[in-house]
Amino acid sequence: MAATVLVVEDDPAIARALTINLTVRDYHPHVATTGAQALKLAAEIAPDLVLLDLGLPDIDGLDVINGIRGWSEVPIIVVSARHEAESKIEALDRGADDYVTKPFSLGELLARLRANLRRAVSEPASARLETRDGVLTIDLAAHRVSRRGEDVHLTPKEWKFLELLARHPNQLVKQADVLAHVWGPQYVTETGYTRVYVSQLRAKLEDDPHNPAYLLTELGMGYRLVADET
Ligand code: CA
Repeated sequence: MAATVLVVEDDPAIARALTINLTVRDYHPHVATTGAQALKLAAEIAPDLVLLDLGLPDIDGLDVINGIRGWSEVPIIVVSARHEAESKIEALDRGADDYVTKPFSLGELLARLRANLRRAVSEPASARLETRDGVLTIDLAAHRVSRRGEDVHLTPKEWKFLELLARHPNQLVKQADVLAHVWGPQYVTETGYTRVYVSQLRAKLEDDPHNPAYLLTELGMGYRLVADET
């Protein structure tokens, strides 16, 4: 399956060279030339990998990392002319996965791209979770939920919601993170969405949806899935 790569680069010559080289190798590149466009496109196309130039005309590339990491674990390779150790460390601290310094060799960049894509594929939170009473099982790799042994059908958005909670079992997941992950970063204030979807999920998963045992609301904060990895 061809990987979609978001190329964030304001230098047209470099963007064009990357686009051509990625396309001939069967990747699907999309170019963003500003940080704002990068954040918008990242939400729209849900890329498999992001190549990110740090020096952008509008916002700092480091803030693009923060923006994407608020809701996505997509691999981010920073491609930057800044060679100072500081910006490299800062990029990695903010959640970038790898770093290539300009001028880069295409061979090296492609090797790092392949390595990061492989890592992302081989580490899908492979976990299987189960509620303590054994009623619900969630298989993240297979995208399946079952209740007392019967498959439960979820809509794609319901699954995305549940999946995010299941990747952080027993932990509070902030409402804004759910909104950004399921609907996109521009929807973080649409709290009504999560309320509707949480009731839908409870109706499908809980014995008593009005007195939930698994999918808990932390008032004014977010949600928590009570389940353990098996
Ligand atoms: Ca630049």
